[in-house]
Amino acid sequence: NSFDSFGLAPSIVEVLKAEGYSKPTPIQEQTFPLSLEGHDILGIAQTGTGKTLGFAAPIITKLLKENVRPEKRSCRALVLAPTRELAAQIADSFKTYAGKSSLSVVVAFGGVKINPQRTALARGVDILVATPGRLEDLIAQKFLTLDHVSHLVLDEADQMLDLGFIHSLRRIAKLVPPQRQTMLFSATMPKTIRDLAGGFLTDPKEVSV
Ligand code: AMP
Repeated sequence: NSFDSFGLAPSIVEVLKAEGYSKPTPIQEQTFPLSLEGHDILGIAQTGTGKTLGFAAPIITKLLKENVRPEKRSCRALVLAPTRELAAQIADSFKTYAGKSSLSVVVAFGGVKINPQRTALARGVDILVATPGRLEDLIAQKFLTLDHVSHLVLDEADQMLDLGFIHSLRRIAKLVPPQRQTMLFSATMPKTIRDLAGGFLTDPKEVSV
């Protein structure tokens, strides 16, 4: 199986075999090694390219290796997505790829009650997938801090800007520790996205399909 050579957690490779994935997609081939080496990543890729596994598999691998418990009201990995549908889909992917490992995955988006999300976050989670607005609400109400985020993903960054999340993202950028790994994916790369990326990424490697 050609997922074997990257140094991904064996448990993920098992899941991918079970899911019937025979080989990494081009974006995954580029993203896996760079991400596992610890680089920040600027990815130009659309939905359908397999970018979700591209960032999820290295993050899961690293979280399993670090083998620490999340702090209360904190997450270890934070994935930002523009819409509730995408956030839910990304969270489902993480749950699938994390398989039977002990990693916890929570999704938080607006338009639904905040209290179940508060409860889900109270003991801390490994992976939080959230939309920017609800994330800020959770932080404002002291249900969550970003002090322990070691992995940050901005997915579909162009769509987040189209939906007016630029100020929200800039505020969130100030709340995550500087010592972290960040990956930003966007289908398009206009100047506004490059500027946003400049505020989030340190010496990023570019990947594209
Ligand atoms: P994404 O672009 O991340 O939304 O992924 C698109 C679809 O491709 C999802 O349904 C994944 O389950 C599937 N997928 C991701 N990586 C692979 C792969 N290496 N082989 C086959 N299917 C994949």
